[in-house]
Amino acid sequence: MKPVLVVGAGPVGMTMAAELARYGVPVRLVDRAARRTDKSKALVLWSRTLELLDRGGSGGSAPFIAAGFKVDAVNIAAGERRIGRVSLASARSPYPYALMLPQSETERLLENRVQELGVRVDREVELASFTETETETEGGVEAVLRHADGRLETFSAAWLVGCDGAHSAVRHALGATFDGVTLDSDWMLADVHMRGYPCPDTEASVYWHRDGVLVVFPISPGRYRIIADLPPSGGQHPPAPTLVQTQAVIDRRGPQGMSAFDPIWLAAFRINSRKVSRYRWGRAFLAGDAAHIHSPAGGQGMNTGMQDAFNLAWKLAMVVRGVCGEPLLDSYGPERSAAGDQVLKAAARLTAVGTLRNPVAQSVRNLVGHMMLGLAPVQQAFADTMTEVSIGYPASPLNGPSLRGVPAPGERVVPAADQIPAGAGGAPLFALFAERTPAVADLLRQLGGLLDREVRRPVREGAILLVRPDGYAACAADRPAVIAGYLEGLQRSVGPVGRPA
Ligand SMILES: Cc1cc2nc3c(=O)[nH]c(=O)nc-3n(C[C@H](O)[C@H](O)[C@H](O)COP(=O)(O)OP(=O)(O)OC[C@H]3O[C@@H](n4cnc5c(N)ncnc54)[C@H](O)[C@@H]3O)c2cc1C
Repeated sequence: MKPVLVVGAGPVGMTMAAELARYGVPVRLVDRAARRTDKSKALVLWSRTLELLDRGGSGGSAPFIAAGFKVDAVNIAAGERRIGRVSLASARSPYPYALMLPQSETERLLENRVQELGVRVDREVELASFTETETETEGGVEAVLRHADGRLETFSAAWLVGCDGAHSAVRHALGATFDGVTLDSDWMLADVHMRGYPCPDTEASVYWHRDGVLVVFPISPGRYRIIADLPPSGGQHPPAPTLVQTQAVIDRRGPQGMSAFDPIWLAAFRINSRKVSRYRWGRAFLAGDAAHIHSPAGGQGMNTGMQDAFNLAWKLAMVVRGVCGEPLLDSYGPERSAAGDQVLKAAARLTAVGTLRNPVAQSVRNLVGHMMLGLAPVQQAFADTMTEVSIGYPASPLNGPSLRGVPAPGERVVPAADQIPAGAGGAPLFALFAERTPAVADLLRQLGGLLDREVRRPVREGAILLVRPDGYAACAADRPAVIAGYLEGLQRSVGPVGRPA
């Protein structure tokens, strides 16, 4: 079995490599950098990402949760006026909170997981170029890798996944356009120690001010991330703020009495909102920042990227292991591109609302915001969106027949605390949620290569629900024959699953 070449060992590449390796797929993971990032960059692991990490062994999400800090509410204020408070506790997940964990820590824990699975991060190895190869019997990719001493190595892989970040060499080599905009404002980021934060350390705060927005995320007790927009400096690389400048923004936009000291990281950046139009190009895929970048409002960039990897890995593993045909891989792009669009739109909306300049629009925002955040359904929708548990694939080409009273095809199946999550273990398998009738036992015998032998309890009497290895519903029926038809279609991959080619 030829390996899959994963380019880039950031959080997305390491997630990709770990998922493939645990499913028994040989992987080569290369990164041009000499070491992991020591920067805190992405600070939040959201509920859906923790759920997906649970499928991966090595203690699941437990080591991440042990190392992180839980934030379970977001306050919104304008001056002294409280606009609203969103509780994340209502998010429909076993993890109803934002887990604050610096990206450097997330990457450390992911690297532990990758190493436990026998994959080494091949550092100071850069992808220089690649071409797709096709023989009569098999397709593949021939990559040229540049080592630190300048040596060039030619490496043959079955597939290539570009997880090489916002300036992706894979994306450039594919000629994929990265359409979108650069926002006309500068942003400052300050990870600092601070006294006088007037909210509990388990709550984040957004302060809307006529000059712009100030956001305070607790990182751990006494340590905070401050984010604020600033007038444009004109350059692509705005200068990092000083502690004095940071304090001035806090004093002007925040409540009185907050005092920052001992900065850990001060940075400035500009916001890009960009996405590729295609995620798959033959034998090459794009995932993470290589495929989409957006405003950090909502803290969803890294999570969305890791979820790209969770989505692609089981499909690639099934194809590499020969249990499904290649058309299965065509669902990766449409599913994750739609999720990417949603995240880009939500982040742009949050950014626009926080940075309104017109005083009349600001007053309307404050009034409407106060009213809306008082409504329970709005609170619920906000919590489910932020935690990414509302992401699903309603228009997926993989969606099969549906049944009333069970999760619709493409919908996330809420993991139960007392159940092994779908997709856990050493092979990419679909899970049945059904009564263990003789007909269901026959189905397991007939399609054992695709089905987990562990049958989960039914979500409603008489219903058979088929769940994908990433925890989303595939199809549902009251007769095993329908489920068998769906899975056989997937094996043959004669066209859109469940429908004739
Ligand atoms: C200042 C800042 C603050 C941020 N804050 C947040 C936040 O609060 N929340 C959030 O969700 N996100 C945030 N992000 C974004 C987040 O850091 C990214 O979404 C995340 O790192 C994407 O992961 P990735 O694995 O796709 O790419 P990266 O982390 O960029 O990793 C790509 C890897 O590929 C390697 N590489 C590149 N080219 C090659 C090549 N040719 N060959 C081999 N290796 C290569 C690089 O060395 C790197 O290790 C922030 C980013 C920055 C810069």
